[in-house]
Amino acid sequence: MKNGNADEKEPLRPMDAEQLRKYGHKMIDFIADYYKSIEQFPVLSQVQPDYLKDLLPNFAPDQPEKFQDILDDITKKIIPGVTHWQNPNFFGYFSASSSIAGFLGEILCSGLNVIGFNWLTSPASTELEIIVLDWLAKLLNLPDKFLSSGHGGGIIQGTASEAILVVLLAARDKILLRIGRNSMDKLVVYSSDQVHSFFKKACQIAGIHSENFRVLQTNASSGHGIDPRILDQAIHDDMDIGLIPFFLCATVGTTSSAAVDPLVEIGLITEENGMWFHVDAAYAGNACICSEYRHYLDGVEYADSFGINPYKWLLVNFDCSCLWVKDQRDLVNSLTTNPVYLENMIFRKNNFVDFKDMEIQIGRRFRSLKLWMVFRLYGVENLKEHIRKNIKLARQFEKLVRSDNRFEIVCPGMFSLVCFRLLPHNENDGGYELNSKLLDAVNSTGKLFFTHTIISDKYILRFAVGATLTEERHIIESWKVIQNQATLVSRKFTQQNKN
Ligand SMILES: *Cc1c(COP(=O)(O)O)cnc(C)c1O
Repeated sequence: MKNGNADEKEPLRPMDAEQLRKYGHKMIDFIADYYKSIEQFPVLSQVQPDYLKDLLPNFAPDQPEKFQDILDDITKKIIPGVTHWQNPNFFGYFSASSSIAGFLGEILCSGLNVIGFNWLTSPASTELEIIVLDWLAKLLNLPDKFLSSGHGGGIIQGTASEAILVVLLAARDKILLRIGRNSMDKLVVYSSDQVHSFFKKACQIAGIHSENFRVLQTNASSGHGIDPRILDQAIHDDMDIGLIPFFLCATVGTTSSAAVDPLVEIGLITEENGMWFHVDAAYAGNACICSEYRHYLDGVEYADSFGINPYKWLLVNFDCSCLWVKDQRDLVNSLTTNPVYLENMIFRKNNFVDFKDMEIQIGRRFRSLKLWMVFRLYGVENLKEHIRKNIKLARQFEKLVRSDNRFEIVCPGMFSLVCFRLLPHNENDGGYELNSKLLDAVNSTGKLFFTHTIISDKYILRFAVGATLTEERHIIESWKVIQNQATLVSRKFTQQNKN
C-alpha cells in the first residue's frame, strides 16, 4: 500500500481536524473490512502464550511511525491474537453485542472525550444519562421508585461488578450507621451458589468477614434458583447467634445456567428482615424489555437496587452497565467526596447528585451516548426483535441437541442459553473428561467457540447465542462441527479406555 506515503509527509499532530478526518476514515474502513471478513478468522485465537513478545520491539519507538505500517501490524500481529467476540460463531460466556449505533456512540464519546464527574463538567453528560436510564427503566417496566423523579434513579457503571460493589458498600454503610461501626464483623451477606464469582470479591473489598458469606445451595428441582425456605432458615440461624443479615444478592439469569431466583418470595424475606436486596440481571434482564419475558422480574418491586448490562445483549458496545437504586442518597452517603477543587454549586442547588458520588472512580465517560444512539437508530421494536431472534436461535439449537441421543439437555432452556453435554459412559467424573475433550476439540477447530460450567458436579457445555451477526446457518453449521467432533472424541475415548 504505497498511497500511505503522501499522508506521511506531514507529521501527525496530536489533534488536527483534517488529519482526524483522513485517518478516521481509514480506521473506519479498516474496521468495516474486519467485519466483512470476520468469518474467515478462527473464532478462538490459536496463538500460544507470549506470542506477541517475539513480534514486537522491546522499546517504544522514539520517532513517529507510519499509520499504514501500524495497520499492517494490526493485521499481521494483533488480529491473530484476537478472539473474535463479534464473530457470528461466538457462543462463549455471554456475548458482547456490538452494533453500528453502539459503535457510533462510542466514537462520539471518545471524540468529545469529556470527563463528566459532575453536572458542570458537561451538563449533557449527566442529564442524558438520567434521561436514557429513565427510558430504559420504563421499557423494563421497573417500579416508579427506580425513576429519577423521586429519590431513586439510574446510573451507568462500567460493569455489573462495579454495580454490585457500590450497592454493597452503600448497604454496608447504611446499616453500620444504624448499629455502629464496631458491628462490622457481624454483618452477613447471602446469595445462591450460582451467584457471579464477583460477589465474593466485592465482599472482600467491602471488608465483610470471610466467614459471613452465606452460599445457599441450589438444586435442579428448583431450577437452580434460591429456595426461599433455605434463605429464611439461614437468616434465622444467623440471627440466633447474634449476627446481622444485611444483604442479599439475587440473580435473574445466572452465569452458569441462566437460572432465575424467585424474586417475590425472597424479596418478602429481605423486606421482613430489613435487608438490602440487590437483583443482578446483567444478561437476562435485557430480555425483559419483551413483555413475554418481563415476568422474570416480578418481585423487583422489593429490590433496593437492580442492574442489567446492555453491553451484553442490547446492541450497546462494551462498556455499559445500568444500575438503578431506589434511593440514590444511600450511594452518595457511602461514596461521596467533596474536595474544594470539585465543588459544584449549580448542581447542588438543583438537587441533583453528582454521579461521581455513586461510583468507585471520579472520572467517567459519556457512555449514555451509546444507549441513546442505540435507542434512536434502532427503536425499541428492533431491540425486542433482536432479543427474540436470539432466543429463537437458541431454542433451535436445543432442538438439534435433543435430536441426537448421544447428548442430553442438562438444564431447562432459559433465554438464549443452552446447557447440554455429551452423555458419558459412566458418571464417575460427571462427564468431565469426555466433555472437556469435546469442548477443546471443537474450539481448536476455530470454527466456533463456546464454554463450559460445572453444576451439581456435572461438566456442562454452555452454548450462548447473542452475537449480533449470528443467523440460523451458524447454528446449524456449529452443531454439525460439534457432532463430528463428538464422534471423533468418543471414538478416541473408547479406545483409550480399552487399553
Ligand atoms: C456477566 C455477568 C456479570 C459480570 O458482569 P461484568 O459486567 O463483567 O462485571 C455478573 N453477573 C451476571 C449475572 C452476569 O451475567
